[in-house]
Amino acid sequence: MDYRSSVAQGSTLSQVNADALLLVLTPEQSQTADPVLDALIQDAIQADDLALKAGRALYLHRPRGVKTARLVLAVAADAKPKSFKAAVAKGLSLLKDGGAGHVAIAAAEGFKLDADHARVTVLTVADATYVFRLTKPSAPKAGALKKVTLLSADDQAAAVKAGIQQGQGIAEGVTLARELGNRPANHCTPTHLAAEARRLAKSSKSIKAEVLERPALEKLGMGSFLSVTNGSAQPPKFIVLRYEGGAAGQAPVVLVGKGITFDTGGISLKPGAGMDEMKFDMGGAASVLGTFQSLALLAPKINVVGLIPTCENMPSGTATKPGDVVTSMSGQTIEILNTDAEGRLILCDALTYAERFKPAVVVDIATLTGACVIALGNLHSGLFSKDDELASALLQAGQAAQDTAWRMPLDDEYGEGLKSNFADLANVGGREGGSITAAWFLSKFTQAYRWAHLDIAGTAWKSGGAKGGTGRPVGLLTQFLLDQAAAGKDALAPREAKPGRAAAKTTKTTKAPKAASKSVKPEKQVKPAVARKSSIKPAAKA
Ligand SMILES: [Zn+2]
Repeated sequence: MDYRSSVAQGSTLSQVNADALLLVLTPEQSQTADPVLDALIQDAIQADDLALKAGRALYLHRPRGVKTARLVLAVAADAKPKSFKAAVAKGLSLLKDGGAGHVAIAAAEGFKLDADHARVTVLTVADATYVFRLTKPSAPKAGALKKVTLLSADDQAAAVKAGIQQGQGIAEGVTLARELGNRPANHCTPTHLAAEARRLAKSSKSIKAEVLERPALEKLGMGSFLSVTNGSAQPPKFIVLRYEGGAAGQAPVVLVGKGITFDTGGISLKPGAGMDEMKFDMGGAASVLGTFQSLALLAPKINVVGLIPTCENMPSGTATKPGDVVTSMSGQTIEILNTDAEGRLILCDALTYAERFKPAVVVDIATLTGACVIALGNLHSGLFSKDDELASALLQAGQAAQDTAWRMPLDDEYGEGLKSNFADLANVGGREGGSITAAWFLSKFTQAYRWAHLDIAGTAWKSGGAKGGTGRPVGLLTQFLLDQAAAGKDALAPREAKPGRAAAKTTKTTKAPKAASKSVKPEKQVKPAVARKSSIKPAAKA
């Protein structure tokens, strides 16, 4: 798609050179200062063909006196980017099946377009024109639309241009995350995600990719991660991505993405209905890869590390059983009461691995719990953090990117349910507050740095007729990284190591602190669970 910005307003608007003109009005701003257009708008309103209400739109073919063959009037609730986005999406839907290759988009007089409007326009066009065809060659061909020009007044042009550029970078990342999510699990395997990481590294000088295979993971003592792979014939991968746009030695932001490429639930097997959607259980991984794609294009001055533990969760004779106890890389032992709570089992080892980067902050992204979908539906991702500064930076980025999150509690009392008689921690509590106990479980592995968790189980994909990946929260993450890069010395930095931190780890609910304190030198740790497990070769199963 070719995106342009151009200066046109007032009386020149009806003479714009394009195949279609999409004009966004609001109830307060419905004039253009172009007499031709204003007469058409007035006429449409008087004839009751257009009401100045949000969501309304009207298509006019070969309107008299207008140079473009097609004119669409679309009404936004107000001048906010979010409302503009909805109106543009509605307007584009009226042009979708037509022959317009070049659409010019403009707003009514007095409606000031800024970088945010431009960015959401690009994201809306990218969303409207995406087609999944890898496994559906019969999918309708991409529409005629090839070029979009955003028209603005002279004094808005620079902001609009910057917004378009930013939107293009984010849109590429969103599209990659969507595409990976949509790919069936027999295509999008852990090996495929690793190949995508290598492709990103090849395509950009500022990105490096490393893929750790099973022997390396065993050596690291990732007994929790590896326990999830026991029933699968697909080899697990641990992807390490680095984007080096900041100063050497600057503490990186670490993004950790859950990459379960298919989740059957394991021995705690899920019900059959809707199980196909468990191919989307790598949405966290997809969002990290998508964000790196955006970083490659936008080149912000920041250092970012992406960690993706990826595997399948399958039932088999070699699969992990409920009640099995494994030793995580942190040294803490985990009783796996439910093998379907596997996301936290792969994430916890990745979170321990994250310590070695001495991160500014760590954000993990995971399609973690159905409970989060019950709590928040599909509108907001769940945000969990005890770090107010980090939480508010993420919330703000979500607002700006229109990829919102909602903060959930994380009180220590929620850890009560994760007590086990046989291990330091159980991997599930009761049904109540399930998204919070999941986050609390992760918090037991994140004591060494500032951390936040995004539960995207409700936002990473859509069900029903519109079934498909959304590419969320690439928008939020990219915006957060751009904000951090722009913040300079006010960017989030590693918290000073506080004396007595080890003592702070003690909670009422587990006896973990001793084990957790080992996590600073994970390589030297013995790994009984892994050693035992590795003698069972899941790949050997028929
Ligand atoms: Zn699961």
